[in-house]
Amino acid sequence: MQPTLVSFPDGSVTGEGEVLIVDRDASVIVVDATPFHPVDHTWPDQPGDSGEIRVDGMRLEVSEAVMAALSHEGELAVGGDIPVKRGAEGWTWLVAHRIDGGIPAGVEAGAPAVLAVDAERRAALSRGHTACHLASLALDAALADLWRKETGVDPLGNPDFEGRANQSSRIHADGSVDEYRIGKSLRRAGFDSEGFSASLAEREARINQQLAEWLAAGGASRVEVEGPSIVDRRTWRCRLPGGEVGFPCGGTHVHDLARFASITVSLDLSDPQLLVMTTTAAPAG
Ligand SMILES: [Zn+2]
Repeated sequence: MQPTLVSFPDGSVTGEGEVLIVDRDASVIVVDATPFHPVDHTWPDQPGDSGEIRVDGMRLEVSEAVMAALSHEGELAVGGDIPVKRGAEGWTWLVAHRIDGGIPAGVEAGAPAVLAVDAERRAALSRGHTACHLASLALDAALADLWRKETGVDPLGNPDFEGRANQSSRIHADGSVDEYRIGKSLRRAGFDSEGFSASLAEREARINQQLAEWLAAGGASRVEVEGPSIVDRRTWRCRLPGGEVGFPCGGTHVHDLARFASITVSLDLSDPQLLVMTTTAAPAG
């Protein structure tokens, strides 16, 4: 079996394929090709797409697309039950569609399938994901002067606070919540955490100013792929006034920053060891 071919990186929300696996115990089906974006089991930042699949005139409701992996022995592991990291050798990497309410008799491997993602929810999640990345770049820029030592840099050349401190990222419709650990190791790396907490409101204003400038300038955004399957490396690329930025990303994105009316963040440091950045996107009318 080949890894699932995926069309979500170019923004597709519909597709056709052949049913390859029907697992009634796990209530999932696998199709050879899909437009559904699956939630990643190792870094579950963007939720999986929902939607529907039609097989032989039957309509199956997909509650969420998830990763699945088939072992050499033919064992199918789904979502959080996958015992290895994505892309590990010895496994075939697949997109599985969780079916609400069980899989009807008559749906069997070999049948043709027509797939349709909930396009409105996808668009909102794509806006949330692009907003999340832009906010993280603006955060790095707004904190750049707080570093007392050389450290690695982000795609805009600013000290990589995001890469060093981000411990979780949760994307939802038109927004995201990111958590950053501000602990001993960050201070040892040269980050001035006292200076940060003393200037939190000013930093937040700087981020929002930067985001407004980027949106006013406009720019194209896209997902670049190295191949057609779910395991091929994917990179988010976005045109900003300072040049094109890019970093590895498994999610979906808007095609153009004109899709946003605004993106704003709020910073919460009520636990001094944990920065919570909440990002809110307003879609363009
Ligand atoms: Zn991403």
